[in-house]
Amino acid sequence: MGTADLAEIDSTEEYVCKNCRVICRQQNGTWVHPEPWATLKARQLCENPQPLRQAKPREMRSGSMRSFRRDRWINEEQLQQLVVPCGNAIEVGIVGCFRLRSTGSGHPRGWGYLASDGHYGFGATTTQSRFDGPGELAAETRALFWALRKLVPNYRVTLITDYAEIASMVDAWRCGDDTAMPPGYDAAMSEAGYERKLLLAARKVHENAESVAVRQVNDYADTALGAGANKLSLIGWEWCAGEITKADAKARALAVASGALDVAPLLVAGDDQAEETDDGNEEE
Ligand SMILES: [Zn+2]
Repeated sequence: MGTADLAEIDSTEEYVCKNCRVICRQQNGTWVHPEPWATLKARQLCENPQPLRQAKPREMRSGSMRSFRRDRWINEEQLQQLVVPCGNAIEVGIVGCFRLRSTGSGHPRGWGYLASDGHYGFGATTTQSRFDGPGELAAETRALFWALRKLVPNYRVTLITDYAEIASMVDAWRCGDDTAMPPGYDAAMSEAGYERKLLLAARKVHENAESVAVRQVNDYADTALGAGANKLSLIGWEWCAGEITKADAKARALAVASGALDVAPLLVAGDDQAEETDDGNEEE
């Protein structure tokens, strides 16, 4: 598994390369990275293209696959009045919400982050096929992943958490130890070629070690950012559990974030909206 069966390969079809994730196709019996990707993506290309699986329409359009999957439930925004220039120091509260659902199978792990520069995000996952670690810690680390994804390396970020496990994990990542993961976390790449989120986060923290700090607090609720992030994680949980609609979730999140940061509920026009409809998947 993990490599396309050669007998099934149609030379007119486009595949994702298992080495570099850029589109590849068969040409005269050998695998190549065709134009325009060969030129446009030159820095990321491997020397020896190998097919992993057929490319999806979005991947054919963009020339490569994303290295990770988006959550199926996710929304990220920024409040207009708090925007600061890139490189500034900001703080961000990260909180997860793991509660069993009384009905249905998937038990959502909600997550939320709220940053002092007005960035906020919330969402949820119902991972079942992979073990992500103990429920609440897995939810917390989901918040950690998405906050790092959005804010680093653009800003110098201090993460606010009341989880000692997260503080020590980020410290280990900063020193280059990407084996520091929640107990039992499965860090292997998925068969579809996606990398695990915490592994990506670990590398990002190592590469930007000077830009990531952790402030461990006794209780997230003691900080405005932590209290706001907690409310956002609950909204993510309720949205995923089907208790509220996406529109409700977005409206409530805007009220929570602007209330916690004490600014008007005006958003920066986002660039994430187009991504929301793509292949986000609840399985990872
Ligand atoms: Zn390649």
